[in-house]
Amino acid sequence: MSRPKIVILGAGYGGIMTATRLTKELGMNEAEITLVNKHNYHYQTTWLHEPAAGTLHHDRTRMPIKDVIDTNRINFVQDTVVSIDDNTKTVKLENGELAYDYLVIGLGFESETFGIPGVKDYAFNIRSVNTVRKIREHIEYLFASYNNEPNPSDSMLTIVVAGAGFTGIEFIGEMADRIPELCAEFDVPRERVRLICAEAAPTVLPGFDEELVEYAVNLLESKGVEFMLGTPIKEVTADGVVLEEEEIKADTIVWTTGIRGNSIVENSGFETMRGRIKVEGDLRAPGKDHVFIVGDCALIINEEINRPYPPTAQIAIQQAFTVARNLKALINGTKTETFVPEIKGTVASLGKGEAIGKVGNKKLYGATAAAMKKIIDNRYLFLLGGIPLVVKKGKLKLF
Ligand code: FAD
Ligand code: NAD
Repeated sequence: MSRPKIVILGAGYGGIMTATRLTKELGMNEAEITLVNKHNYHYQTTWLHEPAAGTLHHDRTRMPIKDVIDTNRINFVQDTVVSIDDNTKTVKLENGELAYDYLVIGLGFESETFGIPGVKDYAFNIRSVNTVRKIREHIEYLFASYNNEPNPSDSMLTIVVAGAGFTGIEFIGEMADRIPELCAEFDVPRERVRLICAEAAPTVLPGFDEELVEYAVNLLESKGVEFMLGTPIKEVTADGVVLEEEEIKADTIVWTTGIRGNSIVENSGFETMRGRIKVEGDLRAPGKDHVFIVGDCALIINEEINRPYPPTAQIAIQQAFTVARNLKALINGTKTETFVPEIKGTVASLGKGEAIGKVGNKKLYGATAAAMKKIIDNRYLFLLGGIPLVVKKGKLKLF
């Protein structure tokens, strides 16, 4: 009898960890495992705010997939997924087609634009190595150009960040550190540079601990960040952003107003909410007994508050463990288990040596929180590739 074909789409946190866990759960002859990813590298999405600002080289965030997975057990296909046809159980790729018996969708997120005009045309987003490289290069080019212009405009050195969620705040923290370096490098007076964050809600990091939010705002304001709260962006233009009562001229707009699931899922006929599939308890797509969803494409509800859990790497990694066990259960004809997220906490960086976090009931600030963030990052690398990967790619200097 031929081995069942498991195809995993996307080698982000959810996908690559599912593939790795499957090699632990299944014997050599139990299944044929294929992992598909657009690039030949896996990148740490949770670090992308750093290369976006230019405080970390993008190569630090990525690693060749073949160095991480067991290539004797997993067939890696570098290709771009175009669509999924679950009726014929095939995945269309840019350069071919793959048939599956079991499918795991881990294609990650897209930036949420809410249909706001101009976002797609004029704003940058923090999504992948390629999108953040573009942000860094764009900002550096503007700094380099400034002193070459006979009449440089203020907008050249105005950066607007849309949304003060965790992504926006982590990017602002890095950018606030990077600006003085850029000023020194390109002979630009610091007072000519503006770093503005426009947030629709009345507070930064809506819903997060008030004391920690106050710490973050005070710290970032002391580094020159301007917060505009209760200020939704209505439109992005070639010249800047349009607010309810004014316009800000800016040559750099970084859009961080939340995320939705990869549009391939929606376009392939799956029922979605903001591009995400509301999965069954065992992480299967409703009505599809052989399709699992992992990471940001999966929507799971926190029953205590009757709202979706925020999509995070923390949850994607935990889901991967469950999906691997559930695939084994299906292949062995046993019962699948229900996924129960274990939220260990949230830690957000605020630039070099600074962070805020809540782990259990404990609040963390400053250097302690920053060290905790590095420990979390290293733990993931340990889970994926053991000590060798931590040594190669980890953040080993905690303080
Ligand atoms: P991803 O990790 O985004 O991976 C998706 C993969 O699919 C990628 O490899 C991509 O190349 C591939 N792919 C996409 N489209 C295609 C295609 N068409 N064909 C082939 N391959 C494709 N969460 C936390 O828990 N803690 C944090 O500290 C944290 N910090 C964050 C910081 C930033 C700046 C950002 C943006 C997010 C952060 N998050 C954090 C959220 C976290 O990164 C996501 O929840 C997580 O990446 C989701 O994992 P995933 O596997 O679903 O998708
Ligand atoms: P988010 O949804 O957490 O925050 C988006 C913010 O944009 C909100 O505060 C919202 O009020 C604001 N906003 C929406 N529309 C706006 C508009 N038109 N103008 C101005 N502001 C607007 O999204 P995110 O920050 O992109 O994060 C995405 C996911 O990744 C979340 O689940 C988050 O928890 C996770 N994440 C976690 C970490 C961490 O744990 N350190 C870091 C980054 C991201």
